[in-house]
Amino acid sequence: MEKIVIGAATVYGAYADTFQVVDELADAGFCSVEIVDERTKDFSRQEIDSLAKLGLNLSMHCPFVSLMYCHPNYNRAKPELEILRNSMQTALDMGCTDYVLHGGEIPLLFTLSKSRDYLLDLMIDRTKPIIEAYSKQGLKVHVENVSFGEQIGKQVSDIIKLQREIEGLGFCYDVAHGALTMDTQEILSTLKPDYLHLSDNRLKEDEHLALGDGYLPFRNILRLLYDFNGPVIIEAKSFDACVRSKLYLEDILKML
Ligand SMILES: [Zn+2]
Repeated sequence: MEKIVIGAATVYGAYADTFQVVDELADAGFCSVEIVDERTKDFSRQEIDSLAKLGLNLSMHCPFVSLMYCHPNYNRAKPELEILRNSMQTALDMGCTDYVLHGGEIPLLFTLSKSRDYLLDLMIDRTKPIIEAYSKQGLKVHVENVSFGEQIGKQVSDIIKLQREIEGLGFCYDVAHGALTMDTQEILSTLKPDYLHLSDNRLKEDEHLALGDGYLPFRNILRLLYDFNGPVIIEAKSFDACVRSKLYLEDILKML
């Protein structure tokens, strides 16, 4: 991991002006920024253009609140699919190289009569054409492992199936989520991460603490990722936590 570039996500700035958040991260020495497309309003053309002009290495995180790609009623999934398509187009327009995808909610009511796998197939059928179309245009899309609620991406088998069925789909390994679902070893012996999310927690919930403020054994985890050389994004809950995480990570990387 010697040559990695440490980036940060705008996740802590959902209510703030994204340009200002990106600007403060760039001033703090982050030359790679993940823009989280879960905000209080859609991006304007002017915002897209001014973010593109910053000359940073940008990636984008999909909108992630209450995604219903798996709902058996297609009309419930349709608006989310349109939002996904718009978000990927925004990422391309902004010059993003990578895009992080969540699998969305599993509507539990329907698991009374259909399998979880059936609902996962619905998500695959609906998102595959969108993901593959944007992949062909050069956007590297990575599905993320999650740790909360009942969602696609919480089980290693979800990620395996998504990658098997959707051409060119990468894997965003969220180290904090992996620690919470207690399957770090299983994930890293089964899947090859293409993109990393880093934050810390006290092994009970997804707190997005600064690295070093929780209980995650980063030195051991990063040793398991010794040959990883993709984007590394700190997803901490404040600007201060991002800056402290970067220093902490740089220290650990020196000692690996
Ligand atoms: Zn994440």
